[in-house]
Amino acid sequence: MTKLACPNFIGGEWKTPAGVATTPVYNPSTGEVIAETPLCTAEHVNEAVEAAAAAYPAWWETPPVERARVLFRFKMLLEDSFEELIRLNTREHGKTLAESRGDVKRGMEMVEFACGIPSLLMGESLENVARGIDCDTIRQPLGVCVGITPFNFPAMVPLWMYPTALACGNTFVLKPSEKVPLTAIKVVQLLEKAGLPKGVLNIVHGGRDCVDALLTHPKVKAISFVGSTPIARHVFEVGTKHGKRVQSNGGAKNYVFIMPDADVENSARGVIEAAFGCAGERCMAGSTAVVIGGADKTVLPTLFEATRAISVGPTDRENQPGMGPVITNQHRQRVEELIAIGAKEGAKVVVDGRGVKNSDSPNGFFVGATILDEVRSGMTVAREEIFGPVLNVMRFDDLDAAIETANRSPYGNGASIFTRSGKAAREFKHRIKAGMVGINIGVPASMPWFPFNGWDESFFGDLHMQGKEGVQFFTQQKVTTTRWFSYGEGDIWHK
Ligand code: NAD
Repeated sequence: MTKLACPNFIGGEWKTPAGVATTPVYNPSTGEVIAETPLCTAEHVNEAVEAAAAAYPAWWETPPVERARVLFRFKMLLEDSFEELIRLNTREHGKTLAESRGDVKRGMEMVEFACGIPSLLMGESLENVARGIDCDTIRQPLGVCVGITPFNFPAMVPLWMYPTALACGNTFVLKPSEKVPLTAIKVVQLLEKAGLPKGVLNIVHGGRDCVDALLTHPKVKAISFVGSTPIARHVFEVGTKHGKRVQSNGGAKNYVFIMPDADVENSARGVIEAAFGCAGERCMAGSTAVVIGGADKTVLPTLFEATRAISVGPTDRENQPGMGPVITNQHRQRVEELIAIGAKEGAKVVVDGRGVKNSDSPNGFFVGATILDEVRSGMTVAREEIFGPVLNVMRFDDLDAAIETANRSPYGNGASIFTRSGKAAREFKHRIKAGMVGINIGVPASMPWFPFNGWDESFFGDLHMQGKEGVQFFTQQKVTTTRWFSYGEGDIWHK
């Protein structure tokens, strides 16, 4: 099978760099290599940043409403190519077509958000801050901004970044995940078709060397990063040390609380969706069910039964399974290894997804839905982000003890509660240490108009992606204080 092209996009030219090492892009459903991502060097990074720097003055001077018009056309083209995009997304990532639909749709909503830029950029003003003196604020772009993205949302995460950055008047260099570069390329081809001037958005592919060159390039002003916590911390530290503004989203370990009064069907469904949606490869995955009081007798039997019924298989065809493969064979092995470590440290494997085989696709990277019961804090599986279809179950006598344990987690992305009690929900919302809270919602990922609001080791920086904070991140504020003299009263031009 011919492999798909994976070119850089620099200064408006699509070019595959010659003579550089490459890394394979798989179809996780079949194990086939479908493309090779070039591992670009500092030289390619420099070309991309220089192209973005050269395009910046004219793009900054383009009125916000004209920048928004490019994004409106982009949105229409995304809609026209929706089916093609979701199939490509599924092909390189492995998530189901329904999950790819969500991935692309969420990305499109970010474009819709950025289309409102003329209103979003408006400043404030106050007359008579002192007698005859007025004051106002305006927001101006930063210059060349960079986006570095993970593998798990090939469409959505790049779109968290550049529509807002470009709408604000910045130019951009995107470094997509080397594991899933193809959807990012296709989406940017649509933006090019929408009329984005050359050099305003550039793509450079690669891994660590490429990232380090971006973090230290003197012409880069700001960096948006999404990925695992160790790399997020590295990006934040190196980027800020080199004088850049950085927002850096890391990994997570999210808790879904189930109170004894919770609706059985709805809470079991909510936990299943949170734990096994996208094969657990979500930073908002509800990877620990916190079962309180008698909920073990009501919800757990339904949860176990429904988990056993989840089918796993290839997603790149019409017949869709309940769950797709994980991203690579290496990751499949790691997830299975963590399940074994959990069992060794005392967890009970009540549903075991290890070693599943699919006769239609024997080389796919499949792990079945798995539940580890009686997990206790301190176990490896309670501490590490597994990033696979594995749900831990922890049992507590009361809400207090459960909140105390959950709040000891170093992460702080999301946490949810299923209950019929307003009092318990209010207590949970008030005390839980997480930046995004769900009440009878399993995956409380915030929508584009609100910040994607990780805390602690799930986020390094001050201003989050999405919403008004996203606009603030990609702009700098200017405050002007103004006084006008009357004729003859110190007006130097008339002396
Ligand atoms: P990753 O950290 O391995 O890679 C992310 C990016 O960093 C990629 O572009 C990669 O090329 C680059 N990178 C990898 N190693 C590097 C190194 N040593 N130095 C510099 N750059 C490096 O993450 P991943 O496996 O692609 O994605 C999964 C992770 O992302 C999970 O931890 C998940 O929780 C997290 N994530 C977080 C959010 C959020 O908003 N908090 C959203 C999605 C994913």
